[in-house]
Amino acid sequence: MAEMRVLHHFEGGVVQPFEVGEGEITFDLRGENGILCVMLENAPDELFVKILTSARNRKMLLGQGLIASADERYRDQRPFPMQEEDGDAMAGVVAGMGNRFYLSTRYLYGVKRLAALCRRVVGPDIKMRWLRKMGRTVPVFEVGTDDGKKTVHYFIAGEDAWETTGSITADGMLRLIASHGTPICEMLDSMVIRVVPLLSPYSACLANPSYTTLDGKAVWATATWADDVPPPEISLVCEEIVKTVQEKRLGLMLNIHSWQGQNPNSMLEAIKTASNGAELDKPRAEWAAMALHTLIRDVPKGRAELAGKTWHPGVARDYMLGKHNAITFRLEVTTVGQGRDNFYETARALLTNMAKVADWSPVCG
Ligand SMILES: [Zn+2]
Repeated sequence: MAEMRVLHHFEGGVVQPFEVGEGEITFDLRGENGILCVMLENAPDELFVKILTSARNRKMLLGQGLIASADERYRDQRPFPMQEEDGDAMAGVVAGMGNRFYLSTRYLYGVKRLAALCRRVVGPDIKMRWLRKMGRTVPVFEVGTDDGKKTVHYFIAGEDAWETTGSITADGMLRLIASHGTPICEMLDSMVIRVVPLLSPYSACLANPSYTTLDGKAVWATATWADDVPPPEISLVCEEIVKTVQEKRLGLMLNIHSWQGQNPNSMLEAIKTASNGAELDKPRAEWAAMALHTLIRDVPKGRAELAGKTWHPGVARDYMLGKHNAITFRLEVTTVGQGRDNFYETARALLTNMAKVADWSPVCG
């Protein structure tokens, strides 16, 4: 049989140093960027995979496993468990995927899936538009017709590069809406929903674990909401959301992240206090706690918390409360013990629960 080959996966293409042996392969992920995303060709039916990695990634891989997919559209992607070996090593066996498949430390979601989503959902109920600035664009799916008065809800995923599970969840929301599979479809006359499954198609699946600026520098975009000059993608959605707040019609603004396998729960959070000291009064804090409790119902592995402050200034919910007195939310989807079905189930629960919150006016104070 021909020797196994490691190819750039054109959409991710994070090829780490590797060594091929008889029926096995070793990847070294101990460099700055611990992400692996390759395509294997001529792989054996049972492939022994060894990964050299940092302590942080080890926890993630133990909880989540290695993700393999033999399908061009990633519809069959699933995790293969990894065990700890001596030293920096972890190991597992990938079997039953055929001889040609993607192998990744993340669930796969990129520009290709975004294009497939577009083909599937855009129609009478869901329109597509693009925000543009400085040579970059943000694809926005728009549900419902905006009359300038309706409540507007935002679901934004991909705010951190490679947190692909958040994108799969946002993708699932649009598929559900397009198939009229959620009660929210009966309420679209009274609201507008804007979904951004991949906030930065330019940065989502590159070799860099975070965003790149226009001049190619890596930047932790998530914490740039308060910056004078955030990356264009952040600034575009920020401007739009701030306008909605000024019009006093912001509903649920949810940033969907994924901490992968670093935590066994999917955690929904809002904050009471911004880093500049701005604080929710008692009625709004009580409303936020109620909204969290309602939204998290039936979310697989879901937990919710009204936290004190954010752990880092400049993230969306800190900036929106501190500068614009608006309550916004963040979800970290876990990949421990769950795959696409549950990410879609998360999407379903969020949409169903959103419909149960009768009054969104406390968001804007
Ligand atoms: Zn994140």
